[in-house]
Formats: sequence, C-alpha cells, structure tokens
Amino acid sequence: MANRFDLVIVGGGFAGLVCAQIAARRGLEVAVLERKPEPGAAGCYFLATDTQAVLRWLTGEAEAAGVRFYFDCAFREARPVDGGFVLDKPGIGARYLIGADGARSSVAAHFGLGRNRSWLVGVEAEYEGLQGVDGHRLHCFLDSAMAPGYIGWAVPGVGVTQIGLACRRTDKPALPPLIDKLSALFDFKDARIVERRSGPIPVGGLVRPFAAPGVLLVGDAAGLVSPLTAGGIYPAFRFGRRAAETVADYLDGTGPEPAAVLVREYPRYRWKGWLRRGLGLGPPNWAFDAALHLPPMRAFARLVYFHRKGLKSGAAWRDLFARRK
Ligand SMILES: Cc1cc2nc3c(=O)[nH]c(=O)nc-3n(C[C@H](O)[C@H](O)[C@H](O)COP(=O)(O)OP(=O)(O)OC[C@H]3O[C@@H](n4cnc5c(N)ncnc54)[C@H](O)[C@@H]3O)c2cc1C
Repeated sequence: MANRFDLVIVGGGFAGLVCAQIAARRGLEVAVLERKPEPGAAGCYFLATDTQAVLRWLTGEAEAAGVRFYFDCAFREARPVDGGFVLDKPGIGARYLIGADGARSSVAAHFGLGRNRSWLVGVEAEYEGLQGVDGHRLHCFLDSAMAPGYIGWAVPGVGVTQIGLACRRTDKPALPPLIDKLSALFDFKDARIVERRSGPIPVGGLVRPFAAPGVLLVGDAAGLVSPLTAGGIYPAFRFGRRAAETVADYLDGTGPEPAAVLVREYPRYRWKGWLRRGLGLGPPNWAFDAALHLPPMRAFARLVYFHRKGLKSGAAWRDLFARRK
C-alpha cells in the first residue's frame, strides 16, 4: 500500500491534533482523518477563546511537523491486515489506530470498545453588543428548573459574550428562560446573536475497555471528561500528548502496549462520578442557596471547580481547612 502510516488518528479535535503533532515530532508517519471539510469548521465547541482559531493553529503546527490530513473524510471501518489496519476510505494503512473522534466515537463502535452512556446536553449562543458583563469573571448560574444537573453561564469570550447552559439529557436545554433572567443583570438592548451551538457532553467517566490490540481511544471518545465540571479540553490536551508518547514508545520497541501504561494514568473520576450522580438528582434551588451561603461549601466548590488539581490537591484541602478556622 502506497500510503502506509505508523499512526492514523480519527478525529481532528483537541485530542487528535495534539496527539498528531507530538507523534510526528517523535518521528512517526502520522495521518489524521477528519469528517469536517476544514480545521475549526462550524460546529466546534467552546472555551473562552476563539476555538476555531485555536484548532486551525493546532492543525498548522501538526502540518508543519509532517502530519498528513484527510478532511471531509469520516471513518467508517478498518480491516486488520499484517499486524496493522487498512482503511479503504481514504485508502491508507496504519500500524496503529487512535480514536479521537469525540463523544459518539465511530472507532469505539467499530472495534466494540466501551461507549459513553451518561450525558449532559449543552446549548450556547454568542452575543455581540451585550453590555454590563464583567470581562474578568466567569458568571455561573445554578437553577434546577432551567439547568437541572448542571449550570448556566455567561463567559466573556473573544469579541463576544458566550451565554449557555447544560442539563441532563432527559431534559431539554432552553436558552430563552436564562436570557429572560439575565436581562435583569446585563443590557441586551443592542445585543445580537452571531453564533449558536449545542451538543452532548459525556459525563459517565472513563469507558471500558478503552483499547484493543493496535487501537486506543483518547479525549471524549474515551470518556475523559470531568463528570462534575464537564470540562474535557484539558484532558484532551494532556492525554492526547500521552497517547502519542506511549504509541511512539510502543512502535519503536521501547515501551509496552499503550493501554498498559495509560490504564494507570487515565483518570477514573470516582469521586466526581458520585458527585455527578448527586447533581443529577436535581437538588432544589433552596438547597443550592443554603449550600452556597455556607463558607465550607463555598470553599469546597472553589476547590472542585477552580483549583488546578481539584479534589486531588493536598494544598487546596489544607487551604480549605485553614479558611474554616
Ligand atoms: C456546548 C459545550 C460546551 C463545552 N464547554 C467546555 C468548556 O468550557 N471547557 C471544557 O474543558 N470543555 C467543554 N466542553 C467539552 C469539550 O468540548 C470536549 O471535551 C472536547 O472538545 C473534547 O475534545 P476531543 O478532541 O476529544 O473531541 P472533539 O472536540 O469532539 O473532536 C472530535 C473530532 O472528531 C471528528 N469526528 C467525529 N466522528 C468522526 C468520524 N467518524 N470520522 C472522522 N472524524 C470524526 C469531529 O468532527 C471532531 O472534529 C463543552 C462541550 C459542549 C458540547
């Protein structure tokens, strides 16, 4: 086969692009299959940044490192051949395959790997011309009627304000009631929506199994999203890199199967999973109000949502108890 790569990555999101760049820098021949027609095409989700521009930049860095991209090319299947795989579309071979194709991974489905089963659903709009939003704060709104199981938010973004909410999959997320409430806080007189987006967020934790011989899942495909905060971009970067490093070690004969290493590194989110189940019950608003007025609960929330290591940080726990005294 003319185009035989060491590593084929399905999905050019955060996890896939970081993985591709690192693997190429380690000397692997790498290809990325992306079903969208170009990097950062519409439908990408957000952080408080210009996500499309970040994805385009990551793509450029990966290309500069020698990665080959196949856009407009959705993964359907891979045939096992000679200790690797052949992907008839687009007609390439791979010694190793990574599924970085998001929450509803086709790679996981094709290889019978674990699937995400527990979800939040998020909706968001980007506003231009919205006045009165403090540009230095992430505004979070707890309301079990509007956002059961999660929160609403207003985030000052790049030239826009992002307003959204997420809730349990069984409920239908709707922005208008949140906008109605926020009209009392912000000035929507000259505001206009320039972009809308919505999508599922897996919050069931690490899927099992997340690998098979020659195949590994990473990012949302592996369920690497905090069940509590629903943040998946940091784990996508972190484990996209680790997936590349472990696959490179494996293929050059200096390391074991990547899954044998990553099973000790991929987070299991046990505590956060329990807290997610509690939030999923949709506690009443009076309970949120009471909890947030108690200093220990405020300190605990600060630890979970804003500390770099969250519940695993010894320093943050010491800080929490110091504040209680
Ligand atoms: C509304 C919303 C808001 C969010 N906000 C935040 C936030 O503020 N902070 C945070 O940390 N996380 C947030 N998340 C979660 C975050 O977006 C994801 O965890 C993160 O994007 C995961 O990166 P990924 O590369 O694993 O997957 P994705 O970003 O989903 O990328 C997967 C890529 O694979 C491609 N693909 C899919 N199927 C195929 C196929 N069959 N063949 C080829 N390509 C395919 C897709 O087109 C996509 O480009 C949010 C999610 C949503 C829905």
